[in-house]
Amino acid sequence: MAEFLTQCGCEAQCEAALEALCRLGGLHCPACGGARHTVFEQNERTYGLCGHSRKQTTLIAGTIFQVTELPLTTGFLAMYLLTRAKNNVSALSLMRHLFIRGV
Ligand SMILES: [Zn+2]
Repeated sequence: MAEFLTQCGCEAQCEAALEALCRLGGLHCPACGGARHTVFEQNERTYGLCGHSRKQTTLIAGTIFQVTELPLTTGFLAMYLLTRAKNNVSALSLMRHLFIRGV
């Protein structure tokens, strides 16, 4: 856990991890599926520019982070807890660990 928090403990670190995936071609353009992106920053946000369709996209477009308003740190911590657990993790347990209230 300490190592995880050292690597992904703040929004900037989580965004850098997503950016690194984008540079490795791990993310695909939601418009055309292209894997080549140029990453740039504008108004303190990081965007990707598709090398094929020239469509702009955010780093979270097409990822699980797009459908939530939770911070990236919460999403990364959830992935960490889910992948490190030896058994299943219930939704209620995950909510308690992440200090998320139900709707
Ligand atoms: Zn594209």
